[in-house]
Amino acid sequence: MVVVVGLIIAFVLVAIFARRGVRMCRWRMDRTRDRDGLQFFRCAACGAEVLVPPGKMPQDCRDPRRAGQG
Ligand SMILES: [Zn+2]
Repeated sequence: MVVVVGLIIAFVLVAIFARRGVRMCRWRMDRTRDRDGLQFFRCAACGAEVLVPPGKMPQDCRDPRRAGQG
């Protein structure tokens, strides 16, 4: 019984961390800052900035403040 509870807790924790990985980023394209054939995106939610190949969207959040906040 304890093992089952442990598995459930582990599953919930994994689900929570998985959601954190795909935070509510709002990527906005900024064509004026495109560079080297890459498209510039800026996250309106956390301020992260990233360059991706044309036709692609940034997937992960690269919040520069994340390290400090945990
Ligand atoms: Zn973000």
